[in-house]
Amino acid sequence: MALIVHKYGGTSMGSTERIRNVARRVAKWARAGNQMVVVPSAMSGETNRLLGLAKEVSPAGSDPAMQRELDMLAATGEQVSVGLLALALQAEGVPAISFTGWQVPVRTNNAYTKARIESIDDQRVRAELDAGKVVIIAGFQGIDNDGHITTLGRGGSDTSAVAVAAALKAAECLIFTDVDGVYTTDPRVVPEARRLATVTFEEMLEMASMGSKILQIRSVEFAGKYQVPLRVLSSFTPWDIPLAQEAVSGTLITFEGDETMESAVVSGIAFNRDEAKISVLGVPDRPGIAYQILGAVADANIEVDVIIQNVSHDGKTDFSFTVHRNDYARTIDVLKAKVVPTLGTDRVEGDTRICKVSIVGIGMRSHVGIASKMFRALSEEGINIQMISTSEIKTSVVIDEKYMELAVRALHRAFDLDQPIG
Ligand code: ADP
Ligand code: ASP
Ligand code: MG
Repeated sequence: MALIVHKYGGTSMGSTERIRNVARRVAKWARAGNQMVVVPSAMSGETNRLLGLAKEVSPAGSDPAMQRELDMLAATGEQVSVGLLALALQAEGVPAISFTGWQVPVRTNNAYTKARIESIDDQRVRAELDAGKVVIIAGFQGIDNDGHITTLGRGGSDTSAVAVAAALKAAECLIFTDVDGVYTTDPRVVPEARRLATVTFEEMLEMASMGSKILQIRSVEFAGKYQVPLRVLSSFTPWDIPLAQEAVSGTLITFEGDETMESAVVSGIAFNRDEAKISVLGVPDRPGIAYQILGAVADANIEVDVIIQNVSHDGKTDFSFTVHRNDYARTIDVLKAKVVPTLGTDRVEGDTRICKVSIVGIGMRSHVGIASKMFRALSEEGINIQMISTSEIKTSVVIDEKYMELAVRALHRAFDLDQPIG
């Protein structure tokens, strides 16, 4: 008997009819003799609706007391889902029980709205599985050491599911979603995008961290760290397709060296519209400047992504970096309050209309000229590159947001990603 974890995203849980379909699919897996744990998201649009209500009663802020209540509120979306799914399974004649994060408990740190899972107690879940029930655990949520409800950041149910699978040493974690796997890029932007039969953890990690929303980055980190077999597949196939067929569908996330691996140099293209660029102009070119600027930003708990510093002229240089758009206004405030007064410049500029486009592939390690091919494809479209950042297996550029789709399509074509690999 295998222990399997299924995760269903918001769209898959989007209506009572869809929830009944999820129940039928899970029942099929349970009847085949598997022990089943299911981690659903809130019904589609629900988390946005809840956070929208919060905005109506309170202006945005970073005060911990406010963040606590946002989590209290947002966590309710998943509680609705688990209750409905347990009822739907029982209606199918399958014994099922639902738990919120705090009932399991899923323990997290206290970083409200972006908490990290620290441990999962498997006792209660195992007891219910041993009693022959399907166990349904609310995604996206946990509890901190002081008993406060926390949430894991947007898209966090992926991470809940993988962490549950790791804690229970599940045979496999299946992420059911509204596309039938991981594609060379978002198929909603490039219709020619091709589904990958396999993708390595490293590539998936870069794609997720470069903005591809198919999996929350922390879920991929967890899967890599605990070697959780992970598959992304569609919840929109008929629920009664043969289990053996379903079990090998979608995209398998593999470890490098697996024989099934595809061997493209560039495997995928990710993009991200969630960042903003900030430049501090005319700063003195002397030791300690980067620390002075970015130290103050880090102290405010703001994450920085791409960083560039220009060559200096007359002892002055420009320093630019990107942050999440949600942190843009706060970063500017921090710079004006803490950095500008001691730095001898008051020229802080920002641009929120940027995007980051990245090519990702472990084959880039052993091939030269990949970045220049990327720059050529962009220049042929007349797209100006504002910033560049590279790692062993990815190259990212920051460009004007209005060229994002054009850039993604041009790169998809330049790297022949619409062609099957021979
Ligand atoms: P869920 O609600 O199931 O968690 P998400 O909306 O979070 O689903 O993620 C699935 C979506 O991710 C797809 O609908 C697709 O538009 C988008 N996406 C972005 N990049 C990719 C990619 N490389 N492959 C497949 N889907 C992608
Ligand atoms: N419901 C949460 C969100 O919308 C978590 C998730 O869907 O994974 O972000
Ligand atoms: Mg998601």
